[in-house]
Amino acid sequence: MRVLLIEDDELLADGIARGLRHAGHVVERAADGRRADAWLAEREYDVVILDLGLPSLDGSEVLKRLRGRKQDMPVLVVSAREMLDERIRLLDLGADDYLVKPVAVAELEARIRALTRRGQGQSDPMLQLGNLDLDTAARRAWIGDQPLDLTAREWSALEFLALRANRIASKELVMQF
Ligand code: CA
Repeated sequence: MRVLLIEDDELLADGIARGLRHAGHVVERAADGRRADAWLAEREYDVVILDLGLPSLDGSEVLKRLRGRKQDMPVLVVSAREMLDERIRLLDLGADDYLVKPVAVAELEARIRALTRRGQGQSDPMLQLGNLDLDTAARRAWIGDQPLDLTAREWSALEFLALRANRIASKELVMQF
């Protein structure tokens, strides 16, 4: 998956980015709201992880602008603020999920998987393409009955392509894995 991580806490962003890359995701990082807003306007991501307290442009404003442009990429808000009405406000603004810091990368990863499945209109973790079967929850694949032995990066590239079956993926996008 291509992930945009918007977080100004460098230490936290390092930890999250490392965990997500280890799991095979391609991670781009933005540490301020204006940059994130500019990138979102011109690039495509499978999921956006959004901190709220950001320099130059608040996270909720980034979200508001994204949805104002009718961009529907899944947004997972990660926030230190755990007020109920804040959560409701963010979901109303178009956030798809909300996690309160401190964040466990394994949980973040599981939420990303669920969100991207939902984003592809696919609540079932099983994907079938010809004789290729993918279990996107367990991150395993088979050709016929034969399980494939894939590295995390190989898996991510395969899943990326499988979720875009019948659509063109540019070489640049695929080469990022
Ligand atoms: Ca922050």
